[in-house]
Amino acid sequence: MISIDDFIKNYSVYADHARVKVHSQVESDSTQYPLVSIHFGNPKGPTLLVTGGVHGLERIGAQVTLSLLSSFHERLAWDQILKLMLEKIQVVFIPLINPVGYINASRSNGNGVDLMRNAPITADTDVPFLLGGQLISSKIPWYRGLTVQKETQFVIDTVGEILLQSNCLISIDLHSGFGFKDQLWFPFANSYQEFSQLTELHLFFELYKKTHPYHIYKVEPQSKNYLTHGDIWDYCFLNLKKPDQVFLPLTLEMGSWIWVRKNPLQIFSKMGLFNPMKAHRLNRTFRRHRPLFDFLTHSLASHEMWSQPDYHLRKQIDGEARKLYYGN
Ligand SMILES: [Zn+2]
Repeated sequence: MISIDDFIKNYSVYADHARVKVHSQVESDSTQYPLVSIHFGNPKGPTLLVTGGVHGLERIGAQVTLSLLSSFHERLAWDQILKLMLEKIQVVFIPLINPVGYINASRSNGNGVDLMRNAPITADTDVPFLLGGQLISSKIPWYRGLTVQKETQFVIDTVGEILLQSNCLISIDLHSGFGFKDQLWFPFANSYQEFSQLTELHLFFELYKKTHPYHIYKVEPQSKNYLTHGDIWDYCFLNLKKPDQVFLPLTLEMGSWIWVRKNPLQIFSKMGLFNPMKAHRLNRTFRRHRPLFDFLTHSLASHEMWSQPDYHLRKQIDGEARKLYYGN
């Protein structure tokens, strides 16, 4: 598998099977780093967007995204079924949203801005002090920044471009650093309000549970964990989605505390709080999310089978979903 450093230099290797797009460049120490997205398949079809590396310190998110991209690309050399599937769906990868953060091993981008606090959206109620996004100083974590950063704009533009052509999008953004379990969060981060596509989300996860009854994820609205200003996925969902479109933005928070519990010495390294440090644990993390990725592509290819309930089923599902995710 190629490394993230190789990807930054050699992203054009994917051009034999994909559309490779460079949105813009960001600079650090007089070196330019491209903001790259790799698009496979039919842009008018239901789309999966996999993103990583928004927080540079959480290297595992970028590495897992890149490993999924590499396998996907390898398979296209021989897998006729996958090629057929790509006539129907689109799969887009952004392995590294924040290249300068990755190079510097920092959460923020080169300007000290936390990109997941930087979208032009404010929470509708109080957020946790500092963690929820702050405008005090770029020297303190979770700085929101005074302007929309290039990396944030890159994600917003990519989602906007996808939603111009496709009527169904599931995105999954890979992070680490919070909790013992692998969690899948859905909007909102800026509000305790119910997610307005709860029905589709519930249908999706019920299908996942039936297909993978022993799955590992805890599924929740992000607001059950903490609220923030400036969440990119909130912004995209609330501003880019048209009423008749399905858009499920998911965040995968890999439960990094378990890596620390199993190898307590890594608590003394900055990297150790966010990443698996032992080789076998890293490999296990690469393997761990494959079933979800396969399920995402297959469920999108057949989305008309599950995402369009009739009126009565919709009412019933709404009730179930509210109870399950919001306790009412
Ligand atoms: Zn993160």
